[in-house]
Amino acid sequence: MMTITFPDGNSRSYELGMSGLDIAKSISPRLSSEALSMKLNGQLYDLNRPINGDAAVAFYKWEDEEGRQTFWHSSSHLMAAALEQCYPGVKFGIGPAIENGFYYDVDFGNQTITESDLGKIETVMLALAKEKRPFVRREVTKEEALHTYTNKGDEYKCELISDLQDGTISFYTNGAFTDLCRGPHIPDTSLIKAVKLTAIAGAYWRGDEHRNMLTRIYGITFPKKSLLDDYLLMLEEAKKRDHRKIGKEMELFAFSPRVGQGLPLWLPKGAALRERLENFLKVVQKAHGYQQVISPHIGQKELYVTSGHYEKYGKDSFKPILTPQEGEAFLLKPMNCPHHCEIYRLKPHSYKDLPVRLAEFGTVYRYEQSGELHGLTRVRGFTQDDAHIFCRPDQLKEEFCKVIDIVLYIFKTLSFTDYTAQVSLRDPKDTVKYIGSDDNWDKAERAIIEAAAEKGLETTVVQGEAAFYGPKLDFMVRDAIGRKWQLGTIQVDYNLPERFDLEYIGSDDKRHRPVMIHRAPFGSMERFVAVLIEHTGGKFPLWLAPEQAVILPISEKFNDFAKKVCHVLNNSDIRASVDERNETIGKKIRENEIKRIPYLLIVGEKEEDADLVSVRKQGAGDQGQMTAVAFAAMLTNEINQQQKPLK
Ligand SMILES: [Zn+2]
Ligand SMILES: [Zn+2]
Repeated sequence: MMTITFPDGNSRSYELGMSGLDIAKSISPRLSSEALSMKLNGQLYDLNRPINGDAAVAFYKWEDEEGRQTFWHSSSHLMAAALEQCYPGVKFGIGPAIENGFYYDVDFGNQTITESDLGKIETVMLALAKEKRPFVRREVTKEEALHTYTNKGDEYKCELISDLQDGTISFYTNGAFTDLCRGPHIPDTSLIKAVKLTAIAGAYWRGDEHRNMLTRIYGITFPKKSLLDDYLLMLEEAKKRDHRKIGKEMELFAFSPRVGQGLPLWLPKGAALRERLENFLKVVQKAHGYQQVISPHIGQKELYVTSGHYEKYGKDSFKPILTPQEGEAFLLKPMNCPHHCEIYRLKPHSYKDLPVRLAEFGTVYRYEQSGELHGLTRVRGFTQDDAHIFCRPDQLKEEFCKVIDIVLYIFKTLSFTDYTAQVSLRDPKDTVKYIGSDDNWDKAERAIIEAAAEKGLETTVVQGEAAFYGPKLDFMVRDAIGRKWQLGTIQVDYNLPERFDLEYIGSDDKRHRPVMIHRAPFGSMERFVAVLIEHTGGKFPLWLAPEQAVILPISEKFNDFAKKVCHVLNNSDIRASVDERNETIGKKIRENEIKRIPYLLIVGEKEEDADLVSVRKQGAGDQGQMTAVAFAAMLTNEINQQQKPLK
């Protein structure tokens, strides 16, 4: 017999060799039909694999991230099985689960595949799924694994196997298809009830542009047809909210192939929007004791060798910039931190001076492969709303609380009401790879957890996710259509103070190392604006809107009156302009609505005679007539309500 312990602490005895599925069945038929995978003594494990000793067990269902990951990863095997049936001789790279679904990288050889073939593959997948094919695990030797794939002529799998250690290699078979995989998988394919293959893209083998280009097929699957319908609806809505499309319609930003891929050009309206966001944050930061600094876009290579960034980014990033002077080399800055460390170093610090909080909207450059670039969310040059706090170890918690305050204030003002936070701690079983003393780590980890609790954050704590240089707190927001985005980060760093030999004189008159906190509540201006566009669909709060009102004369005859109205509004700091084009009023309304201008003011003969404007509000229709002065006062009031001053 063996003793199985459940997450609630209860335990029961079972016969040796029973599987997770057997155990689930003994608990309830419902659990056994909904369980997708399990955790066995901390490791993911197949539900249909025998258990051979006492164990702690937790089941994962669709509602759990781990459950969905197992489901989607298993679905990639199902897709591969369908592909092998439809395209004999194809070779496979890797097929992981991703955030929403899965993909498989496939070498189709001489055969071709296009989007129009995806429907056919979906049909085959569903037919195979119905056959209720179990996923059967078999452990093999490295020699046997290599032999299998050498016979099959799949050089990709052979390469993967060569990198594996003997004794830990397993094959999974479902039906006629066998794959090299460490698992786990769902018990059988019949759990997969709905399939959508979403896209085809090119992907270099192992992300290396010097190697073969494979075909990456993306898909998503569900245990219920209705879940797929919901998902497709969400995708449609996401398409409408695509920040690349809206950014163009609102004339916020653009890309020019001549300027270069991944290098956004901020157009006047976008630049003004960004400036408003920056000013908004600057005011908050000033109130929290931050000092604004400015550092150059490049720095001597040595600076980044000192910081360790050269080692991290140097090889895969932009090459050094050389000058006519021999031996002189600069790098585009990948991070602002080294510059701020140098600012800190400029003068001696006493414990009484700390914390020092240096903030900069600093533009950094990191090379991304062209295939990875995406609108404003993946770019090669971006501006971080960066700041570095240099403090004493005993100040960590208070500083974390203050940064959390700033982040929550931003979320509140910009109506991100649904957010969670993740605390990343070090791996308690492997403390060697982390820099900094155990004592400091314990203190910092406790400080973060306490600060998050004090601020009422809904937090998950993950062990082993910390960077080698310190624990951190990350914020995830859920947007208006339920998608998750990672935004701000607050990160403790014991490494850079060491590398830059930063010091302060303590109350004991001795030298001490300050702790450094990196924090960027927006993440980057580019990413934040993208998320904000997708969250609001471009309908920004009034205080942020690029144009708050546009005046639409019914015909050219009323252009002068419209300009007079505009003048009144501009004098009240309302961002307004006149659409003087010789177009029909219907067309002007439509086109300005696409630009998501919150208020449209229509002026014609009636309005001019009465010295009034007819007000239309985006999404709310006709608001009646009023004087320009009354309209300006109404907007000013609305703006003041939105921009709540910081407590
Ligand atoms: Zn697998
Ligand atoms: Zn930093």
